[in-house]
Amino acid sequence: MTFVRTVLGDIPPGELGVTYAHEHLIIDGGRPVLMEPDFDLSDVERMTAEVASAAALGLSAAVDAMPCDAGRNAAKLAELSRRTGVHIIAPTGLHHDRYYGSAHWSHRVSVAELAGLFIADIVDGIDAYDYAGPVVRRTAHRAGIIKIAGSADRLSTRDARVFEAAAIAHARTGVPILTHCERGTGAAEQLRFLMDHGVGADHVILSHIDKLVDRGLHRELLGTGAVGEYDGSFRWKADEPNGTLQLLTWMLEDGLVDQIVLGMDAARQGYYRAYGGRPGLTWLLDGFSAAMEEHGLEAAVRHRLFLDNPARVLMFASLPQGGAR
Ligand SMILES: [Zn+2]
Repeated sequence: MTFVRTVLGDIPPGELGVTYAHEHLIIDGGRPVLMEPDFDLSDVERMTAEVASAAALGLSAAVDAMPCDAGRNAAKLAELSRRTGVHIIAPTGLHHDRYYGSAHWSHRVSVAELAGLFIADIVDGIDAYDYAGPVVRRTAHRAGIIKIAGSADRLSTRDARVFEAAAIAHARTGVPILTHCERGTGAAEQLRFLMDHGVGADHVILSHIDKLVDRGLHRELLGTGAVGEYDGSFRWKADEPNGTLQLLTWMLEDGLVDQIVLGMDAARQGYYRAYGGRPGLTWLLDGFSAAMEEHGLEAAVRHRLFLDNPARVLMFASLPQGGAR
């Protein structure tokens, strides 16, 4: 048994508790906010209230999924964790290319240099300036996951470089990897690439795949040992079936429910009550838990989704001699 690396330090996996696996608690400027002002989640005060309301229902840990130079702020995440008592796992890595543009430094550095930047965030501490400028100052807050993103259906040349760097950082540190699957697509290709580069499927979390309500596809993906992160539960329209719930029911029948974690991926003010939006961060623990119960996903199953599965997949891999962490 190794550990889970939170923004305030390493903890035994059993201490994580109820975990949301792909969140956006802080987005502090950067190109995403320039593109879409509703992405601005820079207010620690408001997010403290939001997280506290979910903590009152049992939330104990959350993965923040905003990687390097796209609005990540390790100090704010640490402050939020201190104020709410909720464990927060901060990421390194890079988001989809559209959040950076073609002139970004990530296109110009080598794969080895990219890996070096990820490893330093994990081992030495996240850059206070978030790799947004030429000066790097390490904080005491270390990254506990690598977030990387693929393009629709495939990995672009740029994506492949980032994925290769993530695989190198995983081999060096044992860090788990969280991927973004554009509109739910490309998961099989991402997983194959990572496995070809030495990453065990059991250290990979494939996000947003519940956008594709395809039983065979999910059976295939989760059957590899990889973990799927479902976060669409509140996005289905009132007059259509809840695809996330449908997939959960199928995967329970197919014996694959241990390969799923849940999140909200709520990257907008409009999703949070503290910003006047809905359904609020409590959703998975109130509205959606009630819906799961109604569909036969009883408390013991939810325990696996919220506690056992995240604790297993967010744990660092054991390393052969020579690793660094
Ligand atoms: Zn996200």
